[in-house]
Amino acid sequence: MIRSTVARVDLAALQRNFRAIQDFLAAGVSADLKGPRRTAPRIIAVVKANAYGHGAARVALALEAAGADLLACADIEEGIVLRGAGVRAPILVFGALSVSDLDGLFEFSLTPTISSPAAARAVQAAAAKHSKMLGYHLKIDTGMNRLGFRHDNLRRTLPELLCSANLRLEAIYTHFATADDPERPFFSEQRAHFEAALQTIEEIRGRESLRVPKTSRDPESVFGTRNDSRPRIHAANSAATLRDSRVWYDMVRPGLLLYGIVPPPLASTIPLTPVMSLTSRVVAVKGVRPGEGVGYGLTFHAGTPATIAVIPAGYADGIDMRVSGRCHVLIRGRRAPIIGSVSMDMMMVDVTGHDDVSPGDEVVIIGRQGDEAWQQIDTREMAAAIGTIPYEVVCRIGARIERQYD
Ligand SMILES: *Cc1c(COP(=O)(O)O)cnc(C)c1O
Repeated sequence: MIRSTVARVDLAALQRNFRAIQDFLAAGVSADLKGPRRTAPRIIAVVKANAYGHGAARVALALEAAGADLLACADIEEGIVLRGAGVRAPILVFGALSVSDLDGLFEFSLTPTISSPAAARAVQAAAAKHSKMLGYHLKIDTGMNRLGFRHDNLRRTLPELLCSANLRLEAIYTHFATADDPERPFFSEQRAHFEAALQTIEEIRGRESLRVPKTSRDPESVFGTRNDSRPRIHAANSAATLRDSRVWYDMVRPGLLLYGIVPPPLASTIPLTPVMSLTSRVVAVKGVRPGEGVGYGLTFHAGTPATIAVIPAGYADGIDMRVSGRCHVLIRGRRAPIIGSVSMDMMMVDVTGHDDVSPGDEVVIIGRQGDEAWQQIDTREMAAAIGTIPYEVVCRIGARIERQYD
């Protein structure tokens, strides 16, 4: 370790979170004995965007070892990185495919999402060129108006894809726009649109039922191999997984929960641990006289004699400039407010009255330093203070920050 600002990634906590989500799903299913489902949904572990900033390679391997059947990433490039790391599990690519370069799908055994007729034709052409049968997931847009075949237009747009000679429908999915907002009824509308779309697709395909069968399934056949070619159904991100077991279907797609963060404003009883912490060390401590300013623009003024500690982490490390005046760090188990403008490589905190603070002291920017509730700074707190979401906080942790795995 050379640079003192590091992100620690606790892979054991990640694996415990994965199992805690599995347990939550199993408990939810067994509590619902009268329902049609007998087996708990499987987990698609979402590791896009460098595993939400945690480091895709190590995170994906840890999740695979914990039992994830399927990993999901944003694009072909990310899938290639996962294969390069040695991931053997199937990898679903969520994003839109660039129509021009699809060879990576075949070379690295990636499973595409097909979300438009044009993509369907391009992938079919590529599969024919490679003389391969390619499994894919079909994405239905049920109201988010991002990617996917419109739910209300499928009879016109889908038949060509469903007849593609080199493409095999492995799963059908949608994505919720408002799963984290319990006040909005739109979630239920999307669910209704999705289930109607499944019905329509079933009619178009004109054969085996898409419904979850009443008998328990062979876990080996979850991804449509041999004896059971029924397409799998999935819809739930973290928020939807917490919110409504009716959208669990065959598989759920948690991202944020795996990393030990509950999407705000939701709460959960799942025992999760934040996987990443961000720590640094004080590099300088100095006195500031009354009336003097601190940092670029002198935006902080000391009214009385103040003591400032300098931390070697700045916006180039992903520290949002808005943390100044809004967030704290932990030093010697105490909260110290971030003051002045965050610079590219440094920021300053106010440690006035804490005479024991010295260069070399550990600084917790995200994480815990002691057992009291106030001795934890989590990404939800930081995100709320600066008007963003915890997703952005973790994804932004800079590329130059070393990830240390333990
Ligand atoms: C990112 C993503 C997820 C995971 O979302 P979380 O809110 O992190 O659980 C699930 N599905 C799709 C399609 C996504 O893009």
